[in-house]
Amino acid sequence: MPPPKARIPAVDGWFTLDAKAPQLLGTRCKACGSYFFPKETSFCRNPSCAGSEFEEVPLSTRGKLWSFTDNRYAPPKPYMAGDPFVPYAVAAVELEREKMVVLGQVAGGVGCDQLHAGQEMELVLDTLYEDDANEYLVWKWRPA
Ligand SMILES: [Zn+2]
Repeated sequence: MPPPKARIPAVDGWFTLDAKAPQLLGTRCKACGSYFFPKETSFCRNPSCAGSEFEEVPLSTRGKLWSFTDNRYAPPKPYMAGDPFVPYAVAAVELEREKMVVLGQVAGGVGCDQLHAGQEMELVLDTLYEDDANEYLVWKWRPA
């Protein structure tokens, strides 16, 4: 039997690898408190803030479904879409505390017919793609 595949992040530093309670990692401006994901580290994008110092913060793991759609076409490379490509739903979720919208695939084959705006969603880690040695993980949303 081959050894179990290593579970490694598809992108480094964007989320924690705690399988039970994964969290996205963003930054917060030390001057105005605005949150950013992906991490902002050079200058604050709040037009009325001149801040340039940020702290890394774990983000809310839950939020409300703000919008969603079906993705029926494989995204272009370098995105690893899997072969054959399996269509999936994409969710835009407004994080509970940060009030920031974060996009992600919807996990577990949950389709648009099972989603409605305003429903509670939670963050999970799931396989984006795999090769012979590794399973590459990414965050996804699923109904809470
Ligand atoms: Zn700021």
